[in-house]
Amino acid sequence: AAAAKSPAALVESDKLSRFRGVWVFIEQREGQILPVSMELLGAGGKLAQKLDVELSGVLMGDQVCGLVDKVYEYGADRVFYIDHPSLHYYRTEPYMRVMVDLAEKYCPEVILIGATTVGRDLAGAVATELKTGLTADCTELDIDSGQRLLLATRPAFGGNIMATIVARRHRPQMATIRPKVMRMAAPVPNRKGVLVQPEIELDENKILTRVLEVIKEQGEKVNLQDAEIIVAGGRGLGDRTGFIEICFGLARAIDAQVGASRAAVEAGWVEQKYQIGQTGVTVAPKIYLALGISGAVQHLVGIKGSDIIIAVNTDPDAPIFQECTYGIVGDVFKIVPLLTEPLKEL
Ligand code: FAD
Repeated sequence: AAAAKSPAALVESDKLSRFRGVWVFIEQREGQILPVSMELLGAGGKLAQKLDVELSGVLMGDQVCGLVDKVYEYGADRVFYIDHPSLHYYRTEPYMRVMVDLAEKYCPEVILIGATTVGRDLAGAVATELKTGLTADCTELDIDSGQRLLLATRPAFGGNIMATIVARRHRPQMATIRPKVMRMAAPVPNRKGVLVQPEIELDENKILTRVLEVIKEQGEKVNLQDAEIIVAGGRGLGDRTGFIEICFGLARAIDAQVGASRAAVEAGWVEQKYQIGQTGVTVAPKIYLALGISGAVQHLVGIKGSDIIIAVNTDPDAPIFQECTYGIVGDVFKIVPLLTEPLKEL
């Protein structure tokens, strides 16, 4: 027979059972929903199914109601839509206030937020205010449906282990999830759900930050997350000149995006925005070329969503050869020009 629960345990489980539903924060910028939010609707839908609850999207901004339909189409049963001029640009205070007020009123059991610059800032502030836990930068999610626990997995101890973290006594259970690690569900055109437009008080005079001007980043735009082909270079390229000749040369010839290992970034050959891996960007291209990259776990965690990995390395025992689809044991300075030169002609 099951052991009887103590009064304290009953109070505890009653408190937790008030929380129901899976929420996804819908991040939008300049009237466009970020792909990570659609990916989280896909992942959140699976969790909601296992918990037998609704999936909700929380969309806030200034006159972005045109995006609501897209949130339904990507899987939300309900959309909380909050429209206010103070939400025009992302600022921690008003966004956090809205999320916290909604969570206190509607008590979701899970809140998922993309691990973007905005999402990382928002999630920490919301979790602190709600006095709940947050598992940051997750790469996998699952549910223990018996105990209604979110199983949030992320790299730990410098990427040497994958740790699954659970919040037994705190609700909501919060996690930020890296872009590109979850798959979007296929959109269902004209799918509809329930729109909830709660009244939220926001007083601009009480918000301590102001956005005076938005200055767009100058220089080459690096979009690794959406790239279909990536040519990435590592320490094996020797120096900055080698990196530029080999990596940028091949990338130009095949219209690919350049990426780098942390060793190449730390050597100052390219800027940090090119870094792929645990402390860089997570990518999921169709083809990933790893040139002179050894395949450290912290690098591999950022490329495991790639369809095809091609590695060129002089060391036959390099760990990248355990992970790649095609491997060439050889010198990048000999192999890569054999590819680049004829491709340039095309
Ligand atoms: P190396 O490991 O030095 O490998 C160079 C490779 O080039 C070797 O395998 C060598 O055989 C090969 N080579 C040499 N000459 C040639 C040639 N002529 N032709 C072909 N091959 C050649 N790393 C990341 O990349 N991204 C991260 O986000 C990241 N985050 C980290 C977070 C933490 C907390 C820690 C502790 C580490 C992190 N690292 C990260 C660092 C990671 O552990 C490795 O040190 C790094 O990935 C190594 O980069 P590399 O493969 O370019 O260099």
